[in-house]
Amino acid sequence: MLVLHPSSQCDVCLEGYYGSKEPVSIACGHTFCNRCLQSLPKPACPLCRSRIESDDVRRVRVDKTHLPPSTPSLSFADIDAARRLQAQSTRLVLHGGSTDEYRELIGELGSWLETQHAQEVRYVISFGSPA
Ligand SMILES: [Zn+2]
Ligand SMILES: [Zn+2]
Repeated sequence: MLVLHPSSQCDVCLEGYYGSKEPVSIACGHTFCNRCLQSLPKPACPLCRSRIESDDVRRVRVDKTHLPPSTPSLSFADIDAARRLQAQSTRLVLHGGSTDEYRELIGELGSWLETQHAQEVRYVISFGSPA
């Protein structure tokens, strides 16, 4: 599946893929937003004029993992919990800890992860860490 960088924009209306605008890709390889696709006067690519069959239209995912924390459904409480767990993990890794402390942390991490979507977890974990 094609993945676009969040700063990509539609080649037709030159606007970013925000809100209800979703990128679609067609057989010729060109990508533009679903609104431009729907407003085409005839089923031809606005960039290269090749014919568009409805089977060829594919939704493209925008990689939102690089966006700042406006990501919906990730609450501040979740971010707080993530940071706290991350700090605890760092402390245990740097200074060591008892088996019970490790077990407790792994349990907490597990139950926190279950409440999160994979994409958001990746963002939270990369956020604020040195590299
Ligand atoms: Zn567009
Ligand atoms: Zn095209």
